[in-house]
Amino acid sequence: MAETAPRPSNFIRQIIDKDLASGLHSSVATRFPPEPNGYLHMGHAKSICLNFGIAQDYQGTCNLRFDDTNPDKENIDYVNAIKQDVKWLGFEWAGKERYSSDYFDALYGYAVELIEKGLAYVDFSSPDEVRALRGTLTEPGQNSPYRDTTPEENLAHFEKMKAGEYKEGSCSLRAKIDMASAFMCMRDPVIYRVKFAHHHQTGDKWCIYPMYDFTHCISDAIEGITHSLCTLEFQDNRRLYDWVIENISIECTPRQYEFSRLNLEYTVLSKRRLIQLVEDKHVNGWDDPRMPTIAGIRRRGYTPASIQEFCKRIGVTKMDNMVEMSMLEACIRDELNTDAPRRMAVLDPIKVVIENYPEDKVEWIDAANHPSEEGMGTRKIAFSKTLWIEREDFREQANKKFKRLVLDKEVRLRNAYFLKANSVDKDQNGEVTTIYCTYDPDTLGKDPADGRKAKGVIHWVSATEAKPAQFMLYDRLFTEANPAAQEDFAGCINASSLVVKHGFVEPALAQSENLERFQFERTGYFCVDEESTPDKLIFNRTVELRDTWAKIGD
Ligand code: ATP
Ligand code: MG
Repeated sequence: MAETAPRPSNFIRQIIDKDLASGLHSSVATRFPPEPNGYLHMGHAKSICLNFGIAQDYQGTCNLRFDDTNPDKENIDYVNAIKQDVKWLGFEWAGKERYSSDYFDALYGYAVELIEKGLAYVDFSSPDEVRALRGTLTEPGQNSPYRDTTPEENLAHFEKMKAGEYKEGSCSLRAKIDMASAFMCMRDPVIYRVKFAHHHQTGDKWCIYPMYDFTHCISDAIEGITHSLCTLEFQDNRRLYDWVIENISIECTPRQYEFSRLNLEYTVLSKRRLIQLVEDKHVNGWDDPRMPTIAGIRRRGYTPASIQEFCKRIGVTKMDNMVEMSMLEACIRDELNTDAPRRMAVLDPIKVVIENYPEDKVEWIDAANHPSEEGMGTRKIAFSKTLWIEREDFREQANKKFKRLVLDKEVRLRNAYFLKANSVDKDQNGEVTTIYCTYDPDTLGKDPADGRKAKGVIHWVSATEAKPAQFMLYDRLFTEANPAAQEDFAGCINASSLVVKHGFVEPALAQSENLERFQFERTGYFCVDEESTPDKLIFNRTVELRDTWAKIGD
């Protein structure tokens, strides 16, 4: 990995430092707890870098735990994709991956313990009745008529729930806490519900499933987690987290700390919305390079190091904010500027015929792979009588600002000769089809002796040797900075978020490998798409050379 600077401190690391100094803990154990109901996105990357980064830096451990209490929405494909993404980001979890469902027996036992202590009861109220008694933010709730059922009766009902004798929605197990609490989550929250669903790990063993708030804290305690890090929306739920741990017989007391979620401009970071994009076919699957998923931005050409660097730069705080996409782009641009070999590719070709160049001659010119990293070596590029150049690099007439090819003027062909445009052919629509030129044979790697200056430098490929290629040019997926705030977020999808171009690349690129990254001179950083083959080359533009979105320069 390119970057090895230490991760910066943050308020969570300060808490850990204090806990280690005071002897509260002698080592640190964290966990990353995804629900396997979708692919991981950049928000998860923030949480992964935080949890695994802490484990690395404090010589502690970080578990990967699938939070799998919602069998309806989860599946094994998501489990596998999540494991692949965490590994690809460069992290290793301690031991085997865990599942909350590993603890279903233990969780059932703790629920029984709460019932025996008179701290949980089976409620047969209908969902509407439960809602009516819950109260509001300004008014306390009221006790359920089932609240004072004896532990013996509750145990029998809970046993029947487990045995499948009650229908879904007909009853639930609730913790008996405080219907007048200022925290809604403490008003006798449901901790178990009936659900006749097949589970990807436990099969058909269970027809009751524990709720997240009951499961998470106990799973943390069972695994000996010291610092349980989650996002701010769980701030209130910390009361319930602590209440459960205090009221069951378990040794370990993990502590929960909350940090702010990552929000990225011009995209959405919520699995629910990302699923909708996939299901409604607004994108071509979870790994569409426009998606803010780990799989998507991997396919787009981002590296694990660039994502880790991004997470370092954004830091960890309790402040909600919206991060500019250009922050993420700067991370990969900085890395590829140093690491990516240079190549030439013409995205929107127009033909050049060099009238004074021999008919069948092909010259193989050595071209540096990097302007400053000599160690990256050179490759051979073909030069011949017919070339492709970029359509936008030619004008019949232009003012001085246009530093490219113009009739009767000279430009330098990158890595090759001076070229002068003499005349053009046009089709019946008046579009230029061929530019007839002459070249100066004395200008390979040197300026003309008479002191002539070229207007600029343009890239090109030999028409006889180049390989056809497809270029996928990506833009922001949404036209609104905060699509999630729109009533219909899918309504503000950017119709030109993908533009496909058909052009040519220099021959050396035919041998490139899946995900290999290059800078195509003047057009951007690209990587080889996973569906690319030597016969059908496909390149994804990772990012442009400069931040054109911010309209800097140009
Ligand atoms: P989503 O809203 O996308 O479904 P989630 O929080 O429900 O996200 P989980 O799979 O439950 O997704 O999350 C696993 C972990 O990743 C949690 O600890 C969660 O807090 C964290 N996480 C999820 N989204 C973000 C985000 N945008 N920024 C930082 N951390 C996040
Ligand atoms: Mg969730």
